[in-house]
Formats: sequence, C-alpha cells, structure tokens
Amino acid sequence: MKAVRPADLAEALDLLAQRPSDSPLVPIAGGTDLMVHWPVRPDARDREYLDLTRLDELRGVRWSNEALELGALASYWDVIVDRRAVEELPILVASARQVGAIQIQSRGTWAGNVVNGSPAADGVPVLMACDSVVVLASHDGRREVPLDRYYTGYREGARRPHELIVAIRIPRMARGIQRFVKVGPRKAQAIAKVGLAVTRSEAGWRVVAASVAHTIRRCPALERLLEERGIPNAPEDLDAALREDVSPIDDIRSTAEYRARVLGRVLFDAVRDGAERAG
Ligand SMILES: Cc1cc2nc3c(=O)[nH]c(=O)nc-3n(C[C@H](O)[C@H](O)[C@H](O)COP(=O)(O)OP(=O)(O)OC[C@H]3O[C@@H](n4cnc5c(N)ncnc54)[C@H](O)[C@@H]3O)c2cc1C
Repeated sequence: MKAVRPADLAEALDLLAQRPSDSPLVPIAGGTDLMVHWPVRPDARDREYLDLTRLDELRGVRWSNEALELGALASYWDVIVDRRAVEELPILVASARQVGAIQIQSRGTWAGNVVNGSPAADGVPVLMACDSVVVLASHDGRREVPLDRYYTGYREGARRPHELIVAIRIPRMARGIQRFVKVGPRKAQAIAKVGLAVTRSEAGWRVVAASVAHTIRRCPALERLLEERGIPNAPEDLDAALREDVSPIDDIRSTAEYRARVLGRVLFDAVRDGAERAG
C-alpha cells in the first residue's frame, strides 16, 4: 500500500494541494470502508493514500456553549463513552451503537461515514437530523457546508479532491424528540433496509430517511406535514407526503414497496412515542 503519513494538518493540506486533481491522494481514517475494497478492486491498490491517523488536531469530541464538534478522527466509540452526548444527544449514541460491532465502532469515524456517502449509512441520518455542518479545509482556507446540502448524487458530495473534512459541528439546542430507527434483517451487524432519524427542536421537525433514495435525505413534505398538522392519527396519514419525499428501489436487501410501508410505520411510531414521552 502506498501511503503518506503527515505529522500535522498543515502538512496534510500541503500534500493534498501538491497533487493533480486527476490523481488525488485518498484520505484514510479508520479504513473500515476503504479496506473493504482492497481485495476486490484493483484500482484500490494503485491509489496513494493520505493517512490521517497522526493528525492530533482532528481527534476527539469538543463541547462549547454553542456546539458539539466532532473532530474528523472522532470515532463512534468516542461518542458512545461521552457522558454529555449520552445525556444531550442520545440519538447520536443510539446510531453509533448500531454501527457494526465494537471493532468497527472504535475505528470507524463519523467523517468517514459522511464522505463514503452510502445511502444506507447510520451516522449520516442522525447528523443530518441534528442540523450538522461539515467543516472542510484546504490549502486555500476553510468552508462550511450544511450536511443536508452536502450530497450531490449517489455517493457524491461537496468535498473537493484537495479538501479534508476537519470537523462536523452539531449546534446545541433543546431537542424534545430524538429518534433513530434502523430496520435490518437482524438486530446487529446489518445494513439498513430502512433507516430513520427524527428530531424536534426550536428549529422545527427534522425527518431524515436512509436506504429509500440514492442519497440520505431530509423529507421536506413530511416535515411540513408534522409542522402544520401535528402528530398523525394513523400511519396512512403520512402516505402522500412520504411518496413526495422518497423513491425507494428494489435491491438485494429489500423491495421498494416494503421500504415505503415500513418507513411510514416506523415514522408514525417514532413521532407518536416521542411526543408522548416529551409530554
Ligand atoms: C464489518 C463492517 C461493518 C460496518 N457496519 C456499518 C454499519 O452498521 N453502519 C454504517 O453506517 N457503516 C458501517 N460500516 C461502514 C464504515 O465502518 C463506516 O462508514 C465508517 O464510519 C467509515 O469511517 P472510516 O474512518 O473507517 O472511513 P475510511 O474507510 O477511512 O474512509 C471512508 C471514506 O471517507 C474518506 N475520508 C475519511 N476521512 C476523511 C476526512 N477527514 N476528510 C475527507 N475524506 C475522508 C475516505 O477517503 C473514504 O472515501 C461497516 C464497515 C464494516 C467493515
């Protein structure tokens, strides 16, 4: 494997900037997505990697009055063991606990989950439902992209080849409802047939669906419906808005019809139950 191992962020950004955009260095953090390709995709061996693991600036979770910032090397485990996250953002912890097993939770990063861009990812929906902002850095400076505007197509995102994600920022606010639901063929070590993250805060309802479109996405028609009509009386009340928001497909994991029906059900249960508990 050809890899360079910069000692700090400035050196990493220099190395990225020096490469032509048709053969960029490929950042590698936990490697839990990238290494899966290693045995099966010959191009994975030809590429040169930028190993991020020595970049202390990107480590850990940081709380301020305004936000929780996940460094780009923050793993799922870093969040699972963070007491404030358990109290204030249980939705993050719930999704982290659903990612693979402990080995993957301790190596895999939230930033890697974002860049990998799987429509079935577990980290992305909860980050999106919490209004997260992706902080990107390059030799030319920093820019910020709200996660709900990050994806431009199937596994394609706003990150340019010479940029790194340096952090993911989650604004702090009271969130009365926080729900993450992953529907898979078994309780652990599964890829979602349907994923759902729901929050309600002063910013309004956020409904984010996974595995029902070519990217993970917010569901504006469902959010509007909940805002205007409140908690529904039956799952069927969500059907029309749901059809506007998502376009599931048949694939090896499930059928389009199953996905649409189940998404409506789990959303109904999540908002009813969440509202009852929130009082
Ligand atoms: C056995 C197994 C089970 C899994 N189970 C789940 C699951 O249940 N749910 C789930 O969502 N995922 C799952 N995954 C996928 C994976 O673990 C996650 O997507 C993880 O978050 C990826 O993070 P990473 O740090 O390992 O990424 P890497 O493999 O290091 O990188 C992934 C992508 O992100 C890019 N990248 C990483 N960091 C940066 C950065 N800072 N800036 C720019 N680009 C960057 C890389 O270039 C690459 O394109 C599983 C994987 C395995 C092998």
